[in-house]
Formats: sequence, C-alpha cells, structure tokens
Amino acid sequence: MTQASRVERVLAVKGMNDVLPPESALVEWLESCACALFARYAYRNIRTPIVERTPLFVRGLGEVTDIVEKEMYSFEDRLNGDPLTLRPEATAGVVRAALEHNLLYDGGKRLYYMGPMFRHERPQKGRYRQFDQMGVEALGFDGAEIDAELILMASHLWQDIGLADVRLELNSLGQPEERLVHRQALIAWFEQHSHILDEDARRRLYTNPLRILDSKNPNLQTMIEAAPRLIDFLGQASMAHLESLKAILDANNVAYTLNPRLVRGMDYYNLTVFEFVTDRLGAQGTVCAGGRYDGLFLQLGGKPTPAVGWALGVDRVLELLKTHAAPTLKTALDAYAIVGDMASLPRVMSVLQTLRGLGVRVQMHSSQGQVLSGIKSQFKRADASGAHYALIFGTDELAANQVTIKPLREAYATQITRSLDDVANWAATLQSDASPD
Ligand code: ATP
Ligand code: MG
Repeated sequence: MTQASRVERVLAVKGMNDVLPPESALVEWLESCACALFARYAYRNIRTPIVERTPLFVRGLGEVTDIVEKEMYSFEDRLNGDPLTLRPEATAGVVRAALEHNLLYDGGKRLYYMGPMFRHERPQKGRYRQFDQMGVEALGFDGAEIDAELILMASHLWQDIGLADVRLELNSLGQPEERLVHRQALIAWFEQHSHILDEDARRRLYTNPLRILDSKNPNLQTMIEAAPRLIDFLGQASMAHLESLKAILDANNVAYTLNPRLVRGMDYYNLTVFEFVTDRLGAQGTVCAGGRYDGLFLQLGGKPTPAVGWALGVDRVLELLKTHAAPTLKTALDAYAIVGDMASLPRVMSVLQTLRGLGVRVQMHSSQGQVLSGIKSQFKRADASGAHYALIFGTDELAANQVTIKPLREAYATQITRSLDDVANWAATLQSDASPD
C-alpha cells in the first residue's frame, strides 16, 4: 500500500472526550470514594437507560428550559419513528423508573447513579457535550432533614477527596402558588425595564421570567439585583422548611450563603435549591447542584410524591482536584516479569497466573515478532512501568526452578531468590494499595 492511499482517520465527536490513563485512574478513584460514601448514607445504586423517550424530558424538565429548547440530542427511532433523546440529566429517568416499577410501594427510597449525560452546548473548559454526572435522589421524603442529609453528604464527599474552596449557596423557591404571586410582581418589574432587556430576556418575559434572574448579561445585573425577591413572597410553611434545613446545617458546621437570586435550570424544583460553587474554575464554577422537586412525580403521571436530589459534574470536580495538590495515585503495578527466552513463556505464564490469583498486579514483558528483547532493555521497561519489583525469569533461574525478585524503587534494597513453589509466600508479603499517597 502506498503512502497516498492511507485511509483518513475518523475523529471523536466535538465536545465528547476520551479519558485516558493515567487520568482514568483518578476518575475510578473518585467513583470508588463516592460509592463508599453513598453506602455509608444508605443510598443504593440505580442504573437507568441512556436513551429515553423525548416527552419524558419535555414534560419533566419543562418546555422553556435551556436543555429542552436547544441542548437535547434527539432523534427518531429508525424502525418505528419513536422520538428518542440521549439523556441530558438523570432525575427524570430515575422518577420514570420509580413509577414504572412502583419502587415506592413500601416507602421512600434513597438512590444514587453515575454515568454520562448529553447536552448540545458550546464546548469549552468544564462544558462538554458528553459529560459525567454522579447524583443522588431521595424519593418519597418531605422532611427538611433529607435535604440536609443530601447537603451533608456532598460536603462529606469534598472532605473525603480533599477538595477545599467549595462554597454552598442556598435558596428556597417556595411552592407553586407562592411563585405565581412572585411571578406577577416580577413580570411587572421587567415590564417597567423592558427597554434594557436583551433578546433572551424578552423571549422569557411571559414564559419563564424567573430564568431572567439567571441571566449572565452584565447590562442587566443592576436591574436584576433590585427585582422583587421570591423569598419575600414565601409563606410560613415554606419558611419553616428552610429554617429547619438551616438549623441542621448550622449544627453540623456546614457554612452556606443564602442567595435569594439562586434559581435552577429545570422547572421541576420547589422549596430547597442549592449549588456548590468554586472560584477556581472560571465561568464553569458550579460543581454540584440540586434541590427539591415535589411536583415531578405528578408531572410524569404519578401520585404526588416529595423528592429531593443533587447532581455533581464529575469533569469539573476532576478539574478542581487538579488545581489542588493533585492526588498522586500509587502505581497499580506490583511487579513486572522479565523473561529470558521464548521457550520459558508457558512456564512463566503459569507462575504469573498463580500470582494474579493471589491478588498480585503483574505485567509481563511481551515479545515482538516472536522475539524477546534483551534483559537490559526489559529492565528499562520494568523501571518505566512503575512496578515495585522486577521478577526475573532468566534461563538459569528457571533451570533451578527459581525466580529472582529485584526491588525497583528502593536504592539499597537487595534482590532475593525464591523457589517457584514458594511464590505464594512472597506474594503474601505485598501490600497492594491503589489509594492516593
Ligand atoms: P450550568 O449552569 O453550568 O450550565 P446546569 O444548571 O446546566 O449547569 P445541572 O443540570 O444542574 O447544571 O447539572 C449539575 C452539574 O452537572 C453542574 O453543576 C455541572 O457541574 C455539571 N454539568 C452540567 N452541564 C455540564 C456540561 N455541559 N459539561 C460538564 N459538566 C456539566
Ligand atoms: Mg446548563
């Protein structure tokens, strides 16, 4: 084949990233920290499909939301024309699954999920078209102590993974009736200032005026600052819910700022909403966000069921971890096997299988074109692999039914020789550990 006939490469889709080693180990580590933490709070895993029917999101998230208006990857099922969408978030799917399987028949459920979400956004740092979220949903609980539990759980996660500089912003969106009265006041206020509204704000004025408060347009900020605040329209029950939540956070030394301007992108929220924000990631500073969505079950055809949850942006948390003294993960390899000659491979590989059966992480040197490189170059590879030990299966060693074990990471440690029948005892002395140093 000539150079000119080389086939053109197919590249990844814009905004959808590969996660390669060694960074993938950091993701695995974050996921394992989160799983362990969720288990300590009695949350159990739920796995819903990545593709759902489009109306689930249109009805669930609300027609006049950024996600539904412009960010969904929607397509028709080629066989029957069903409108389908790659999930832009997981809450709607979790609620659908809870309804479909009558999950709450014997009481509330605490659930968590992890996985990819898809939104057609302009790709930039911290904003991708496929991104990972992990999230928790507490279904069937109306008490503010569950809102508090969720927030405590997120703070606990920051501690466990060593994140500093994440602050909590909190607000209450009250109940739909309270929002309706506020909405009228808000529309009246924006009408008074209609001459400065931008196109986005004008479009939302009568459909979703609350979202105008979320505008990033600097020209609108002063007017937005002075707009009627929802919190001033909340009744006693809504205020009491917020006060109970605050009391639990205070008792647990979780600091927060009340931000009456905090609204969320989805329509389904009521009462508590919150965001964990950092200043270290520029404009994409929200690492975790959530709130209560007591109306969503009803909206999706179920009985009224209180619920609350949050979702964490895995990509942003990883970015943030990297701005700290990044946790260096210990190498995953215990040993690297150096092999004297091709004829020894069957025997060497059976010893390695024994070691792996005992939990030892070992990589074997591989041949190229049925030829093994010299011992010296194999040692270089062993060194570069990060393994703690080189296991030398030389021709002489094998003839004596032995292996030489050479520590690679300690300058003054000496090598030892062991009988092949005795490798299990050596393996027992290893302490395998993939946690950060
Ligand atoms: P933003 O205001 O940044 O667009 P959002 O309100 O759309 O966020 P949510 O839908 O609440 O975000 O999702 C929860 C978290 O998921 C966000 O706080 C963020 O950390 C992460 N996230 C959301 N969209 C993206 C994206 N396109 N790329 C990477 N992470 C994202
Ligand atoms: Mg968004």
